[in-house]
Amino acid sequence: MTTRVCVVGSGGREHALAQVLGRHAQVVVTPGNPGIEGSTDRPATEIDADLYVIGPEVPLVEGLADRLRDQGRLVFGPGADGARLEGSKAWMKEVLVDAGVPTAGHATFDQLAPALDHLDTMDGLYVIKTDGLAGGKGVLVTESRPEARQAVADYLSGAAFGASGATVVIEEGLRGPELSVLAVCDGQRAVALAPAQDFKRVGDGDEGPNTGGMGAYSPVPAADAALMGEVMERAVTPTLAALRARGIDYRGVLYAGLMLTADGPKVIEYNVRFGDPETQVVLPRMASDLVELLAQAAAGDIRVEPVFVDDAAVTVVAAAEGYPRQPRTGDLIEGLGAARRVEGVTVFCAGVAADPDGRLVTAGGRVLDVTAVGPDLATARQRAYQAVACLHWPGMHVRTDIASNPTKEIT
Ligand code: AMP
Repeated sequence: MTTRVCVVGSGGREHALAQVLGRHAQVVVTPGNPGIEGSTDRPATEIDADLYVIGPEVPLVEGLADRLRDQGRLVFGPGADGARLEGSKAWMKEVLVDAGVPTAGHATFDQLAPALDHLDTMDGLYVIKTDGLAGGKGVLVTESRPEARQAVADYLSGAAFGASGATVVIEEGLRGPELSVLAVCDGQRAVALAPAQDFKRVGDGDEGPNTGGMGAYSPVPAADAALMGEVMERAVTPTLAALRARGIDYRGVLYAGLMLTADGPKVIEYNVRFGDPETQVVLPRMASDLVELLAQAAAGDIRVEPVFVDDAAVTVVAAAEGYPRQPRTGDLIEGLGAARRVEGVTVFCAGVAADPDGRLVTAGGRVLDVTAVGPDLATARQRAYQAVACLHWPGMHVRTDIASNPTKEIT
């Protein structure tokens, strides 16, 4: 019998999930978007499926996994209790410190005066984060104390991120290349997917404000088996144990955002779902059955090991004019067919809508994820940019340096 999988979400990550799950199952995506086959308006709670895979953090934090489990469904994604890891950075830091996981030093504030006093004790790199969700944009990393002071004031007053900024986390700034490790957890045990690196800043050379992510690549040459083993042993496994000790049965992705510092890998954040755009480079490289793995995790009993091909994957995000501040929407997307004909290329649809004639138009900041696989990173990269060159809408922009200098070693 064919397995029916319901994917929740509407972006490029869900498009990639739908496609890779679709190798082994019949997939519906809610709400999806007009660029994703199998999209439906019906809510997940009204869809009859054998497995539910929840993409974005907001429904997880709001308890969608709990509601579906209450209906007796098999769900891949943590309940609201576990999703708090992403819903509250202050709580996440508490769990990390308890579990003994290497992470940046931090302090949490909801009053301005002590927060500003704390900044005065720091030097070098200031990192200011909203406690609550801010669509990946609530983090400021700066060497300027005046800018850090201003951000703390804007966050706490509610001017910058509303209630999400009412508590701020101020962190010691770490330096080093970043690494994303997506671990699939069944409550007791975790297995790592292939490592990836993403690009958070909007501009080439890591200039400009943070975004949800402008591109990614996998594998990361520096992330060999020894490093991945260290990440699982020192970060993911103790975190899962710390969650269990709090009575949390965590079944879903635990995504560790790490910085590879001179003192070893340190966790800078946990997310409670597949990364976007890391998913778009990790999943296309999967050789084993993703449906089986996620169903076993959802049932609390992972028995298979994920297997990946040696081929590399690169994804380049094509963004709308004005992203991340004020993306312009409603522009006709041209060249999609030609882009998709480039060897090794898949274009995942993220922020798209259909115009009255059924043509795809831009409808969000990150519009398309142009993903290419190839025998090595250089080839995958060349193919992805060849496909990007086929695409056009007014004000479309991409970073031109995705995967141009993959992290080979940690210095
Ligand atoms: P987060 O949403 O916590 O992952 O932060 C977004 C981005 O800000 C990260 O991908 C890093 O590039 C940067 N960042 C976060 N925390 C730190 C830190 N403690 N030191 C340096 N950079 C950081």
